[in-house]
Amino acid sequence: MDGRESYNITATSKGALLKSVQVLAPSELVVADIPEPAEDSQVLVRPQQVGVCGTDVKVFTGAIPVAYPRVMGHEMVGEILTVPDGSHLHPGMRVLLDPALACGHCHLCRAKRPNLCINAGLMGRELDGVFAEYVRAPADALLPVPESISDKAAGVLQVLGTCIHAQRAVSVFPGQVAAVLGLGVAGQLMVQLLRERGVRVVGITRSQWKLDLAARQGAEVVVTPDRAESVLAELTDGRGPDLVVEAVGKEQTLAQAIELAAVGGEILVFGTLTGGNQGLPYYLLYLKELTIYNPRAALIDDYARGIELAAAGRLDLEPIVSHQLTLDDAGEAFELVHDPASMKVIMKVG
Ligand SMILES: [Zn+2]
Ligand SMILES: [Zn+2]
Repeated sequence: MDGRESYNITATSKGALLKSVQVLAPSELVVADIPEPAEDSQVLVRPQQVGVCGTDVKVFTGAIPVAYPRVMGHEMVGEILTVPDGSHLHPGMRVLLDPALACGHCHLCRAKRPNLCINAGLMGRELDGVFAEYVRAPADALLPVPESISDKAAGVLQVLGTCIHAQRAVSVFPGQVAAVLGLGVAGQLMVQLLRERGVRVVGITRSQWKLDLAARQGAEVVVTPDRAESVLAELTDGRGPDLVVEAVGKEQTLAQAIELAAVGGEILVFGTLTGGNQGLPYYLLYLKELTIYNPRAALIDDYARGIELAAAGRLDLEPIVSHQLTLDDAGEAFELVHDPASMKVIMKVG
């Protein structure tokens, strides 16, 4: 889909209180009431702001099938309303949600790789999600967000956790050169995290304003794709970048990553590729002995690390949020996700 079609949204919510955004069938969105929460062993959270991303759009269009009706959304920062007895959390705390669901007993959960759980799920996909005026979550999926992180910046923390998870895979050292292909939300975060590692970053995209933003966020050089090869050659004495981050999710950019990478280099595939029919420069994979990483989701510690970095003032997250809407604007928010003029789209709740 091109994100240009308009998403009709029906309002059936009777009161302002317990509103939610639900998908009833492919491309059928509704703002509807949800029942009052009952007491149980989980933490009750009132979302303050929720993020919209490509996964939500796929759930909405039916590209990712779900059981209907489904309350959507998985990116949330909210305020705790109630906690079960003896919890380490308390009402009033602002928290980030780790939206991944793991079974806890499969071989990958046992191996402490719950992000790869064979029974894995995601809130807003396998379970009701966070586009709602309250959410229930287990206490160990919630991380306190310190006051030094602004509400606007907090809207990026969930994606930041997944970028940190990805960064753990690669082995770049200070002074090495990394190219980041694609400068959307994830690309901008990758630029900042690589800068924090002392890496010389080259940001690559067609969009001038995204290049400008990456330059302000620590990219040493920013360049359009057509000039990337020559600029990188100049910066690396012809060797090419030690690391190329694919942050678009297209076969064409993965092919370019393989072409740009130095012999013996690494490629971090962060964009989610679901197909393609052009083919890749396979021989170069062998010739350059490239190492390719495909990190998936994040662990709770990745989110914690992101919160620490942001709280320490090491990251500049606010400029990555381009739109702040409300739950009632869910249709518009979904359109904006694939709009080249947008970056992170947030909906404020309540
Ligand atoms: Zn997301
Ligand atoms: Zn499992």
